[in-house]
Amino acid sequence: MPVFGGLGGGKRSAIASRAAQSAGGQGTGAPMRTGYDLELVHLTKRYGDTVAVRDLNHIFAPGSYVCLLGPSGCGKSSTLRMIAGHEEVSEGSIVLDGQDVSHLPPAQRGTAMMFQNYALFPHLSVRDNVAFSLRMKGVDRTARHRRADELLALVDMTRLADRLPAQLSGGQQQRVALARALVTEPKALLLDEPLSALDPFLRIRMRAELKKLQRETGITFIHVTHGQDEALALADEIVVMNNAVIEQAGPAREVWARPRTEFVARFIGGHNVISLPQGKATVRADAVSLASEGLAATVTAVEYQGASVAVTTRTEAGEEVLALLPEDSFYAAPRSPGEAVRLRWDEARLHRLQA
Ligand code: ADP
Repeated sequence: MPVFGGLGGGKRSAIASRAAQSAGGQGTGAPMRTGYDLELVHLTKRYGDTVAVRDLNHIFAPGSYVCLLGPSGCGKSSTLRMIAGHEEVSEGSIVLDGQDVSHLPPAQRGTAMMFQNYALFPHLSVRDNVAFSLRMKGVDRTARHRRADELLALVDMTRLADRLPAQLSGGQQQRVALARALVTEPKALLLDEPLSALDPFLRIRMRAELKKLQRETGITFIHVTHGQDEALALADEIVVMNNAVIEQAGPAREVWARPRTEFVARFIGGHNVISLPQGKATVRADAVSLASEGLAATVTAVEYQGASVAVTTRTEAGEEVLALLPEDSFYAAPRSPGEAVRLRWDEARLHRLQA
């Protein structure tokens, strides 16, 4: 069954063929080629003297879940807003499905944006919120309500179609906002920190729903977040930004396993950065153990995390090294802050950094 009743044959077959590919091609690591190409070409954004985004060049894999990840102020939202058309491009261009959309108004780009605060119309019912953009396009009431109901079914909100936004929980409002963004059949859905307003439990549930929805629709999702766990959980591709540029982009597991720079290693978490005579390298915190021989260090903090225990140490050279130990092995020989320890890791687990 097609996800959208009102779609043309081309897109419907794209969704169908994507479903077929994901059934047959799982585990190959090959990118899906069923969605639409989205390319940033020398994309730059200036606000006065501030360069918020500097010369970005990137092709987003069609039909993938992409997370733009980076600290506050690194240029993620400016990038997203330029793609959406809510911010003017200073230099460069945005190419979607072969068309330069850089100077088109938002509604003509083939993108849709879901905002952090959902921006639902308080005086409109859930159904009318979802149908709103179709009303603007002149679609008649029966047809737009039928489409809105299809989308509400997709996000499991059929029951609450007649409610007002104020009568919904945060998670329900988010589903309505998603349905409202998807009703325009976008080629790319842009999500600006969509989970940040939710409590931790709901955030994890909604994140699973976002991922499921992306898989079902085959639409490219570009999701801005500053949370590395959120990016790792969701993304087929992670684009790490820092100081207005892309530091590294690639499949989530590759970015995590092989951070290119010290910044990425530290930001993505779970890594130690170690100075060697040949330059800097990383070693995963879960690859470090406490042993009778090895690098001398002093325990500075011990944090119980359930399945593992995080032991922070300081080496004689003054570097902080984190050992993430399985709970059992830590409690077989518990350590306390102030104790002297020896750190060990397999040389093969060292990963050289390029910068
Ligand atoms: P992020 O989403 O990664 O937090 P932003 O894209 O919001 O980063 O911001 C990037 C930089 O641009 C920051 O230095 C920010 O202060 C600046 N900036 C963002 N929006 C504006 C604006 N409307 N006017 C001036 N400076 C802005």
